[in-house]
Amino acid sequence: MMAGAPASVGSSSWSSRNWCFVKVYTDEGVVGIGEGSGWPRVVQTAIEDMRPILVGEDPMNIERIWQKMLVSTMGNGMTGTPGSGAMNAIDMTLWDIKGKALNTPVWNLLGGKMRDRIRAYGHAKNAERALELKEQGLTAIKTGGVHRVADQVEDIRKAVGDEIDIMVDAHGPPWYNSKDAIIVGKSLEQFNLLFYEDPVPPDNMDALRRVQDNVDIPIAAGERHSHIWGVRQLIEDEIVDVIQPDTGRIGGISQMMKIAAMAEAHYISVAPHSGSLGPIAEYAAIHVLAAIPNALILERVHDDVPVRYEVTLPHLPTVDGYIEVPNLPGLGVDIDEVVAAANPSKGNTTRAGKEGDGSYEPGTYDEHVYVQTRYSRQKHLRAPNSDS
Ligand SMILES: [Mg+2]
Repeated sequence: MMAGAPASVGSSSWSSRNWCFVKVYTDEGVVGIGEGSGWPRVVQTAIEDMRPILVGEDPMNIERIWQKMLVSTMGNGMTGTPGSGAMNAIDMTLWDIKGKALNTPVWNLLGGKMRDRIRAYGHAKNAERALELKEQGLTAIKTGGVHRVADQVEDIRKAVGDEIDIMVDAHGPPWYNSKDAIIVGKSLEQFNLLFYEDPVPPDNMDALRRVQDNVDIPIAAGERHSHIWGVRQLIEDEIVDVIQPDTGRIGGISQMMKIAAMAEAHYISVAPHSGSLGPIAEYAAIHVLAAIPNALILERVHDDVPVRYEVTLPHLPTVDGYIEVPNLPGLGVDIDEVVAAANPSKGNTTRAGKEGDGSYEPGTYDEHVYVQTRYSRQKHLRAPNSDS
């Protein structure tokens, strides 16, 4: 089933929300719940196509079913987010089913608890919003973009003080090359960031390697890849310090656990991407982070659209910057199908924001940041306190 929401007022960068939830029913009456991202409306079709692979299988054999699903996508290229998003959603339901069948939380199936609560971070475009998040109890805040981001971070650091962790997500627009990313990265070194995320686009490992070698801030990436093979080089070549598998499209809890183990061997920590995802994927991330030794922090968009709090129950609050790990069987979450039906999906694609949101040249706000022509360098590379 799909659930969506239009852009929230005053939050132009969240152009829309579009979540794909799935339920798998067993003949013993246990119902598993999952979520898949990666073009959710396409993922929904892929899930339907995978139905014959699942019928008749024992849901306890999660790895066997996962491998069957992977092989089933061979003729269509095997990799790519629609396929991995569908596998992700189904894999998540299987862990939920197993937990419910055994009357134990998913984190217990993953090796037990390393921790009782998960640190979460929020998103702020400016100092005012950062202060608001700090007052809500958050201890880590991410800001983003490539437009004078050093100035933005300086404002936020001044406002929230040194105790709060700050991260920067450049979102890797394709016209932003590794030299730009290095210059900006160097200008950010003074702010003691927790990490510098997607400084360049995700698919050129050599470009990211250059940034890693030249910027003295932990580098984070990985949210747009699928399966263990999508992030293998990032981890094995130690191109990142923080790996960010997307909890909706990486391939499921099974793949998240393998990636966490691969990362552990390279002293890389895990900070799942879940910003644009819905609340079911967030639950899955919480169970994984509860069980792995190298959990860093969870991305959380907590006040973008009201439906986020209405479509699943119970809602897990962030208290003093942390989310309590749920102890109910399975994932411990349920879907309100009436709310989902009342908030139909609006589409798969992200639309541009509005002028003045920091991502656009004045007068070009209808061109998305990823496709518009390159800024003049002075505008986005300017170091803080320097006159351009
Ligand atoms: Mg990101």
